[in-house]
Amino acid sequence: MAEAAVKTNPVAGEEREQTDGFNLIIDALKLNGLNTIYGVPGIPITDFGRMAQAAGIRVLSFRHEQNAGYAASIAGFLTKKPGVCLTVSAPGFLNGLTALAHATTNCFPMILISGSSEREIVDLQQGDYEEMDQLAIAKPLCKAAFRVLHAADIGIGLARAIRAAVSGRPGGVYLDLPAKLFGQVMDAEAGKKSLVKVIDAAPAQLPAPDSIKRALDVLKSAKKPLIILGKGAAYAQTDDAIRTFVEKSGIPFLPMSMAKGLLPDTHPQCAGAARSTVLKDSDVVMLIGARLNWLLSHGKGKSWGDAPKKFIQIDIEPKEMDSNVEIVAPVVGDIGSCVNALLAGMGTWPAPPADWVSAVKTKRDDNVAKMAPRLMNNNVPMDYHGALGVLRTIVKERPDAILVNEGANTLDLARGIIDIYQPRKRIDVGTWGIMGIGMGYAIAAAVETGKPVLCVEGDSAFGFSGMEVETICRYNLPVCIVIFNNDGIYRGTDVNASGTDDPAPTVFVKGARYDKMIEAFGGIGVNATSPDELKRAVNAAMDSGKPTLINAVLDPAAGSESGRIGNLNPQSKLKKK
Ligand code: ADP
Ligand code: MG
Repeated sequence: MAEAAVKTNPVAGEEREQTDGFNLIIDALKLNGLNTIYGVPGIPITDFGRMAQAAGIRVLSFRHEQNAGYAASIAGFLTKKPGVCLTVSAPGFLNGLTALAHATTNCFPMILISGSSEREIVDLQQGDYEEMDQLAIAKPLCKAAFRVLHAADIGIGLARAIRAAVSGRPGGVYLDLPAKLFGQVMDAEAGKKSLVKVIDAAPAQLPAPDSIKRALDVLKSAKKPLIILGKGAAYAQTDDAIRTFVEKSGIPFLPMSMAKGLLPDTHPQCAGAARSTVLKDSDVVMLIGARLNWLLSHGKGKSWGDAPKKFIQIDIEPKEMDSNVEIVAPVVGDIGSCVNALLAGMGTWPAPPADWVSAVKTKRDDNVAKMAPRLMNNNVPMDYHGALGVLRTIVKERPDAILVNEGANTLDLARGIIDIYQPRKRIDVGTWGIMGIGMGYAIAAAVETGKPVLCVEGDSAFGFSGMEVETICRYNLPVCIVIFNNDGIYRGTDVNASGTDDPAPTVFVKGARYDKMIEAFGGIGVNATSPDELKRAVNAAMDSGKPTLINAVLDPAAGSESGRIGNLNPQSKLKKK
């Protein structure tokens, strides 16, 4: 079935094998090892999905394109191959576009393939079915966008899309396939020849030797050095080199949230629990695959303290340098090549000053000790710490499970409390801090890795992708969803100040039973009211591998406005007065 379908060509008077757009796209994907498609069927791609499945591609059908798109984006992060999302035209395309923009922002390789309406009618704006100039709309939101008009160009079109997605700084690529293309017929032999197997899609980018020497000189001169690992370092899949470099340097390291586990959070050099201290007091900071964006307060201001700082940055994107502050030692290249070059240039490396290392360690141990008793509480109703204390232990006992995490307080607190032990085991809201990635990420994590997935969701965050519990049940994926249900956004206690009967904008139905949702599709639902019940239910779910949704009943008064980013809320100053 993988090969092009046989058709006869009556014109030539002889039997020649023919192929068409459908088969060429399928053959091109398979030739390049793109064996999974996340999407939502509909006109004009319904048959394409069927044919792709019949040809051995795994086709995962979602309930909404945005979730399929988020799945494709994180598949790209986890595998270093572009995740493929397939949508219908206009509205389906627009739904998928959010995820494509998300992939681009997060530097995840992804290809959004959308069917589109007839060019002749779209361009004259004559009102076609789902008329939209999709290519033009996609362009500003992705790394590259292409349209294929002729079946003979499908091979080149996909090759360009793959290269654009994974080479240099990875990102999202849009591939526009008009309805007519699918049925276009051509000679099978010529079609086969037109396909391209992309060789070395993401070529190594070696750093300049000077830049390596400069970086090592600055790092060696530091009194209070710090290494920050970002999700680019996790993406690079060069885990041994990174670990060896960090350990040989002896320098405290701070993992960004999706870089947790590159080295275990319990590693003696981990400064995760001393974050504010190391940001303030460090004098030289080496960024490895992390940007100085809002998540690091742009490298300046109060959280970075007054002491002068020097930044070293390792990144594949030259334009990233000096984006927020001066980078005294830019190292441009792929992280594997850069870190190996650093290792080769280190020679015998002096341990960093002992007073700095011990100051960081003391701060970290103090903070960990302060937190410990709060994590052991068995309060009913549960608070965040009691519930997260349980999940922390479960992840410690099951370090190869993948943790998906979104919400406000649920995100901020879980990120700090749940230690991660292996690379790429924590995936979350990323650079935009968006809500809605939950079920898409959970599905792709299970599909791409075959590992169990634990999904820790705020009740609000879950709502953005909740319908995909049907998808999880349909494909029988080993996903355990825990919903931290505190009856609302941030909290469930807001009151409508107007005196009308409407609830306040941030509250949901009180005492909602999310666990019933998954039961509708044959999954296992559990209502957990205490940390002990939560622990039993999660362990049972992880043991059985059956789709499970646990409604973890939290105190509606638990949670703070906007979680830890209340400073970004224009009203927060008024409220605090
Ligand atoms: P975090 O949010 O964890 O700080 P960011 O997404 O801000 O991470 O930064 C990731 C950085 O990693 C981006 O600047 C990107 O260009 C870079 N990057 C991604 N992949 C590679 C790679 N293979 N080699 C070098 N840099 C990379
Ligand atoms: Mg909530």
